[in-house]
Amino acid sequence: MSEAILRGMGAAAGVTIGPALVYHGEVEGPVRLAGTPEEERSRLADAMATVARDFDRLVESAGHEAREIVEAHRLMLSDPELESLVHMSIDAGKSAGAAVSEAIEQFASMLAALDDAYLRERAADVRDVGRRLLAALSGAAVGLKLDRPCIVLARDLAPTDTIGVERSLLLGIATEQGGPTSHTCILARSWGIPAVVATPGLLAAAKDGGPVALDGKAGVVILNPSPETVAQFEERSQQGHAQREVDLTEAHLPAETPDGRRVELAANGGSPADVPLAVELGAEGIGLLRSEFLFMGHQSAPDEDEQYWAYRHALEHAHGGRVIIRTLDIGGDKNVPYLGIPKEENPFLGVRALRLCFRRPELFQTQLRAILRAGVHGRPALMFPMVANLDELRRAKAALEEARLTLEARGVPYGNPEVGIMVEIPSAALIAEHLAAEVDFFSIGTNDLTQYALAVDRGNPELTSLYQPYHPAVLRLIDMVVRAAHGRNKWVGVCGELAGQQVGALLLLGLGVDELSMSTPLLPAVRRLIRRTPYHRAQAVAREALALGSPDDVLALAEPLVK
Ligand code: PEP
Ligand code: MG
Repeated sequence: MSEAILRGMGAAAGVTIGPALVYHGEVEGPVRLAGTPEEERSRLADAMATVARDFDRLVESAGHEAREIVEAHRLMLSDPELESLVHMSIDAGKSAGAAVSEAIEQFASMLAALDDAYLRERAADVRDVGRRLLAALSGAAVGLKLDRPCIVLARDLAPTDTIGVERSLLLGIATEQGGPTSHTCILARSWGIPAVVATPGLLAAAKDGGPVALDGKAGVVILNPSPETVAQFEERSQQGHAQREVDLTEAHLPAETPDGRRVELAANGGSPADVPLAVELGAEGIGLLRSEFLFMGHQSAPDEDEQYWAYRHALEHAHGGRVIIRTLDIGGDKNVPYLGIPKEENPFLGVRALRLCFRRPELFQTQLRAILRAGVHGRPALMFPMVANLDELRRAKAALEEARLTLEARGVPYGNPEVGIMVEIPSAALIAEHLAAEVDFFSIGTNDLTQYALAVDRGNPELTSLYQPYHPAVLRLIDMVVRAAHGRNKWVGVCGELAGQQVGALLLLGLGVDELSMSTPLLPAVRRLIRRTPYHRAQAVAREALALGSPDDVLALAEPLVK
């Protein structure tokens, strides 16, 4: 049989090769006839208690990164809306199993039809909870069990399938459906296990036990690989392992240039679950914790306690490193249906981030109190996004003071975070010296700074070639911000994508940035770049780049230095 190359979407980088385990994971539908509604309600209550116990066990055995996911499942299990849907069907004469199947499908289809990719992918989580309930009702076993090293191929994989597995036996994951922000992929990335999702035709072509080669970056799954492909993947996989060993041994070397300029390296986190791997790869802290994660996967806004625990988790797992918690940045391309944000013609220029928080004081106060309370643990910093002028900064700080006074009045302990802003709107960069006088630090958001400076929607695929973070106009804005911050003895970081790119990190080093925060897998390469580049050379390149007229010229100048 010749090799079959299938193309999907890369979801967790890395190369792997091994035997397939084709996992079906479906639970047989209900076959029994319904008893009385009272009997069915009681069976449902027993099944819910069984699943809740299963989740408790998973929480205990899971690492920190998986715990959050199971806890979200547990919340879903006790969702009153879901329960009342099931009860309605039972009262109409259905068996508990049939009622669960129907209610779950109704709930999941509603999520799957939403515009927001993240929420769409939560449909798989709802189905996972339903599958567990059905298994408990019918006494069937559920969950992935591995007894040998293998690459798991499945239609889709629920996170609770993966959480319980012996990690050393899981070589890779490929699924026919699913997306890169599914919880299974978030886990795969945090475990360093290569994964490919959205691979059409995978299950029809897969053979249980047959050999599979997988490239989680390119999004390629090769079934029945030829001897040449096997040799090539084995070599790449070994190189990958060797590189990871080197990365881990180098992880705690300081990011210091040969001539003694020290830069702080930090990681961007989409949730507290990202913190442990970041610390393992040598992040000195979390340079950007996007608090949207708490709001986007939910049916309603998280309350103060839920937020407090999430922020506290992140702070405790950072081992004393600074964790910069960014207040809510919803709006723009991130919509949260339950907040009822009106549709706007230009959402990136609309009611986004702070602008939204000022209109919803209770939402803002709840978050600020949760951050202040969590700030008793570890080394907290708080950052306001999308500040455009001095007035907004002052209003945000006044809101923080109000939250502090509320806690004080309640006698609740609170911490004293450093307070900074993201500089991601050109107007803020241009008046940075005034803003610097009133903050502890800046963190430059080059993703938005680029979009707003160049008038290019960062998410529009038609405009990719015009989205140019190396445009000298963007570099000049960054230069102004660094000078303004240093003029006031304040430190300045960069948490946009530029910080993790080789040319970007070189230029930012040369511009005098003090902290670079990036996606965790990029940390080792940036650390190596800094350790081999003399500061004076980076400064000279940055100075020259500022004087150039186009991004192409900047790249032509700097690229040869990072090869
Ligand atoms: C940025 O704008 O550079 C940034 C880091 O924030 P976000 O990507 O979350 O908008
Ligand atoms: Mg931004």
